[in-house]
Amino acid sequence: MEGSAIESVVLEKALNILKRYPVCDHCLGRSFALLGTSTDNHTRGFSIKALLTLEAHRLLEEDDTKGYEILKVLAVNGNFSMARDLLKKKGKDIASEMSWKCYICGGIFQRIDKIIDDIVKEVEKYEFNTFLVGSHVDVSILEREDELRASMGLSYGESIKRELNREVGKKLQERLKKKVDFENPDIVILIRILKDFSHKIDVKVNPIFIYGRYRKLIRGIPQTTWTCKKCGGRGCEECSWTGKRHKESVEELIITPILEITKGEEAVFHGAGREDLDARMLGNGRPFIVEIKAPLKRFISLEDLERHVNNYAKGKIEVGKLRWVKREDVRKLKALSQIAAKVYRVLVETEKPVSEAELKELEQMLTGVTVRQRTPLRVAYRRADKVRIKAIYHVKTKRLDDNHFEMVIKCQGGLYVKELVSGDEGRTVPSVAEILGTQAKCIELDVLDVESPT
Ligand SMILES: [Zn+2]
Ligand SMILES: [Zn+2]
Repeated sequence: MEGSAIESVVLEKALNILKRYPVCDHCLGRSFALLGTSTDNHTRGFSIKALLTLEAHRLLEEDDTKGYEILKVLAVNGNFSMARDLLKKKGKDIASEMSWKCYICGGIFQRIDKIIDDIVKEVEKYEFNTFLVGSHVDVSILEREDELRASMGLSYGESIKRELNREVGKKLQERLKKKVDFENPDIVILIRILKDFSHKIDVKVNPIFIYGRYRKLIRGIPQTTWTCKKCGGRGCEECSWTGKRHKESVEELIITPILEITKGEEAVFHGAGREDLDARMLGNGRPFIVEIKAPLKRFISLEDLERHVNNYAKGKIEVGKLRWVKREDVRKLKALSQIAAKVYRVLVETEKPVSEAELKELEQMLTGVTVRQRTPLRVAYRRADKVRIKAIYHVKTKRLDDNHFEMVIKCQGGLYVKELVSGDEGRTVPSVAEILGTQAKCIELDVLDVESPT
């Protein structure tokens, strides 16, 4: 590089940047981030400025006035104290500029500790183990950096966002004594750098998911909350100003105490299928998952939680087998509920008397068959009309009197049992009514078991 003051491409390019713009150590170093290893951009930038100062000093010793020019660039645009001190020694005092501001980052990297303080303030109230830092930098800042690199022919750079995420992540890890998790962090922290270089902190707290099984001990409680149709949930005379059609639901009985403990913003109840309002849910109970959004507390004991829910819902429902699960388990739960076998106990009333022998025949005719079922009339208003094919695995009956018998039936999930009994005006085939040749209806229904691997 004949004729050039600096015989190094890195130093020459760095000097060219500094001749045009005030640039901090971080941003200068970041322009060469792909060069060198085991260091950070701040050290990289500082080293380049230091080397330039040494080189300028050498030129001065050789009586080359270019040395002064370089030192001035470093002192003014580089805001570099080593260069300033050297000039002072040589009797050329250059006062440090109070309003000095890095052209690229506007001083973000000098403000990292303040940014950390602000983040700590935001996340303090949450319990969490892991976090992830992301950033959104105003496009005008990104463009400025891109333009500078393009005009200087620099191709070794790293983006400002990456450096910011890494620097903040590293320091936060030390400060909070918590770990960065790229896959599944408890908390996501977003640093937003605005056009004027000021920053805002957004915190997104990821939900927690708790699996369990519930037993519904009494009839008359819907699984989920039904909004009052008359007022649409605003509250009216008909719903006693609750906005709901029923006083309580399985969903509410589980969610309310869980929100009390986790102090989440809201909770979503996911059931593995549902039983009718008037059916009990007995046996092992029905699997469910509760998703708790933005919980303040996530270091909770599931035993305590179970006790709290069971106390709250006493005599109505009962939960058990609580454990932690992940978001993808909600989808699995839903998929499973479509196929998992269910065991029902049905109390059937018939119009004509039915004999023991007829019941034996009924058992045989229903065991191992597939049922074709159109969407029942009673739910047709909210479900699409389609035909479902569901398997019955086993049927057992117990005669109570001429017009009543009990039937325990094991079948594929999703079979409408009440319609299996009544035939639903020919929409369900075969049916108990069809086989026995009499009107038949379900008087009582209990779910005895919901099969699931867990
Ligand atoms: Zn900077
Ligand atoms: Zn109402």
